Amino acid sequence: MSAASSQLWLPDSDLAAEEAAFAQRIRAFAHEKLAPHARAIDEQRLFRREMVTDLGKAGILGGPLPASIGGGNWTPMQLAIAHEELGAVCGNARGFCAVQTGLVTQCLHRFGNPQQQQRWLPGLMSGATIGCFALTEPEAGSDAASLRLRAERRGDRFVLHGQKHWITNGGVADVAIVYATIDPALLKQGITAFLVETNRPGLRREPMPGIELGHRGSDHAALTFDGVEVESSAILGEIGSGFTVAMGGLHAGRLSVAAGAVGIHRAALAATVEFTTQRQQFGKPLASFQMVQERLADMLTSLVQNRGLVHRCARRRQAGTETTADLAMAKLAATEAAAVACDQALQLHGARGYSSAHVPERLLRDIQALRIYEGSSLIQKTMLARALTGSAK
Ligand SMILES: Cc1cc2nc3c(=O)[nH]c(=O)nc-3n(C[C@H](O)[C@H](O)[C@H](O)COP(=O)(O)OP(=O)(O)OC[C@H]3O[C@@H](n4cnc5c(N)ncnc54)[C@H](O)[C@@H]3O)c2cc1C
Repeated sequence: MSAASSQLWLPDSDLAAEEAAFAQRIRAFAHEKLAPHARAIDEQRLFRREMVTDLGKAGILGGPLPASIGGGNWTPMQLAIAHEELGAVCGNARGFCAVQTGLVTQCLHRFGNPQQQQRWLPGLMSGATIGCFALTEPEAGSDAASLRLRAERRGDRFVLHGQKHWITNGGVADVAIVYATIDPALLKQGITAFLVETNRPGLRREPMPGIELGHRGSDHAALTFDGVEVESSAILGEIGSGFTVAMGGLHAGRLSVAAGAVGIHRAALAATVEFTTQRQQFGKPLASFQMVQERLADMLTSLVQNRGLVHRCARRRQAGTETTADLAMAKLAATEAAAVACDQALQLHGARGYSSAHVPERLLRDIQALRIYEGSSLIQKTMLARALTGSAK
């Protein structure tokens, strides 16, 4: 897919002039710094440290944070725009930002004390430091409140025992937000967030077994805590507030995941328009056949629909009226629609779509994780049903 074609299907018309200019800036960055590596890091399963430095230098890692602490003061619309642009070009870069900024930095900014913020935020925003968000455990996925990683109090210290897995950046992070329970009998009220330096004795980090379907240029690790000691000053928020910290991060992060899905959808459509207008069969371009046109029309219609849902969330977040249901709907609809669009893109590329030499197969692999993490599609549906009926039980 050429740079020109991936810009073709950005209906910027619903953006204010300064938002459109912002989109152009992030798009130019993505095409200059990310696009040249996007295919290679996927094929080589390579986490590129330079990508982090570039994202930091471009002000993207600190984007949503206030200017008073060196951030970019982005509005929620700018956040959505940035993640759409990154998602359209490199799912690994977008996924990295979703964790580093969307989860780690924003949780630190929201719940950290001044000492914690001074210590970690500058490096996380510049890219000198990498963070990870360690919530999921082998026996606690969608049901995160059932986590078992134990934090035993010993004087003014805590000792951590247990396991996390599927932690993005887990193998390369300098600092981890680790969710642990001080007493499983307390259920959610026992969950506490700790800021843990990853070089602490007793912390073992291993790559996830197997080969991931997508996000192959990202780092996913299993973390084993075997008596890792942390001071009580490492608590992020309060003892027992960890579930609120985690859900606060995930709630905020869903906007960027939904926007990233719109970016993937857009890239799938752009590649398909380019391909079907050039490829000739039966003496004509593929795009001149009505059944192909129908698919292109469906892909465009659902792209614009889902982009609208994402922008609606962003505007509501700006106005302070965003609800859990708004985000659940946007994440659910945008990720599911993008998966359909990627599948169509692959089919319309024929055998070429089946190869990493063309972009649809990477998009189709990458989109799958967005339907799983930060609350799977079925979990978004349970949240929507609960909002509708009030019955969570
Ligand atoms: C690429 C990638 C990156 C990730 N990065 C991180 C990270 O950085 N940090 C982190 O903590 N975790 C991370 N995760 C883990 C992710 O958050 C979990 O995989 C996710 O929460 C789902 O948990 P699970 O895999 O254990 O599936 P399960 O919870 O076992 O669910 C399996 C299936 O059952 C369905 N299901 C579960 N409960 C219900 C229910 N009540 N009703 C209906 N259906 C249900 C789910 O929708 C799913 O389809 C990552 C995962 C991936 C794939």
